[in-house]
Amino acid sequence: MKEIVPPPPAVVRNDTAAIQALFQKNVIPSYARFDLAFSHGSGSYLYDVAGRRYLDLGGGIAVCCLGHSHPEITRALVEQSSKLVHVSNLYYTEPQGRLAESLVDLIAPGKVFFCNSGAEANEGLFKLARRFGHAEGRYEIITAQDSFHGRTLAGIAATGQEKVKKGFEPAVPGFRQVPYNDLEAAQEAVSPATAALLIEGVQGEGGITPATPEYLLGLRRLCDEKKLLLLMDSVQDGHFRTGRFQSFQRILEEAGQAPDLPGLEPQRAPSADTPGGTSAARSFLPDGVAMAKSLGGGFPIGAFWVRGPYADLLEPGAHATTFGGTPLACAVALRVLEVIERDSLAHNARAVGDYLKNELIRLSARFPSVIKTVRGLGLMLGIELAADIPAFVTNGKAPALQCVHRLHEAGLLTIPSGTHVIRLLPPLNLTRPQAEEGIRTIEKVVSTLA
Ligand code: PLP
Repeated sequence: MKEIVPPPPAVVRNDTAAIQALFQKNVIPSYARFDLAFSHGSGSYLYDVAGRRYLDLGGGIAVCCLGHSHPEITRALVEQSSKLVHVSNLYYTEPQGRLAESLVDLIAPGKVFFCNSGAEANEGLFKLARRFGHAEGRYEIITAQDSFHGRTLAGIAATGQEKVKKGFEPAVPGFRQVPYNDLEAAQEAVSPATAALLIEGVQGEGGITPATPEYLLGLRRLCDEKKLLLLMDSVQDGHFRTGRFQSFQRILEEAGQAPDLPGLEPQRAPSADTPGGTSAARSFLPDGVAMAKSLGGGFPIGAFWVRGPYADLLEPGAHATTFGGTPLACAVALRVLEVIERDSLAHNARAVGDYLKNELIRLSARFPSVIKTVRGLGLMLGIELAADIPAFVTNGKAPALQCVHRLHEAGLLTIPSGTHVIRLLPPLNLTRPQAEEGIRTIEKVVSTLA
């Protein structure tokens, strides 16, 4: 008689608690994670391991610009990975050259270096600034309070938030912070050692605060006068999130001062050809721009662009990274740009962003005891919560965190920023009905808090 085959072990359900246990045992606990484990996504929706659907207005922190599981990203990954994934930067590959050309076309004449993250892109700009000032002994980079520039040692030295620096002293020398949007403070801070200024066009981690046009133009003037590089960290606010390729393009356009820059299909830009504006605004350009996040739509890639006159400062041997600009990463990033152009997503970011912002302002007028202000541009929006929402005072946790929790319970993903701001950084192809669904959920949660 044949032996009876024993039954297979019971299928272990891959539920949130089991996944969390794996993390607790094996993953360095440097992140404070929410009690959510996701298994898959589609468009602007994510599904947790129990099958619950969430509308994702966080977009993986401004990364998933085409949403989740976009078929064009899948196609680019499959097509390119079946040809060539990596060869190193000892050699040339076409996708890297073509992506660099696209980014130059979108910003202005210059050159691009590819890396793998936002922190690395900024690190490259720091080295560019030091190389720029080296012959004159200048090395200092002035950044803004409440800024965020990444978690490397130089990144935390550049960042204007004490919480990221604590416990990692001594700080990398040569970084100093001044109040954001305060031109006078920047002017006063410049010393004989200063080589560059670095700011975000819209501060992201600092609570969604856009720069004013006067600040941008004033910094440009200051940098020209003092022979400093003006560097912009566009890691979070770039890649059409504000409705133009770069947030400075949108900010100057908002003030009726559209710079003569590419970055949006002109025929679809409602105010790209706004008359008027100073010639300074029209010709505004930074000297360096850091990019990452949405550049790869979820596939890791970072880059920094350097304006023409400084584009050859980093000569052969001066800077490098093994993985920077692989054919795979660049093919995906090129496809992301194609889809943004094909589907007019810059226009969508502007239109759906305007709808969301107006609706949030309406909610702030209706529930002033919960929402203090609404800030941002395009699909980069911040909801600042009131200081003392009764439902949140006893718990001791930051109001932003508690509110984000409540939104999770209601099926909506958003991202806290500091203690009182909730960020919306959704995919650029978020539809109007999805935005309406998001507003209905926020309204429901806010009304219970009021
Ligand atoms: N710069 C800004 C403005 C950011 O928002 C971030 C990340 O949130 C970074 C730099 C760091 O990017 P990464 O996390 O890819 O290193």
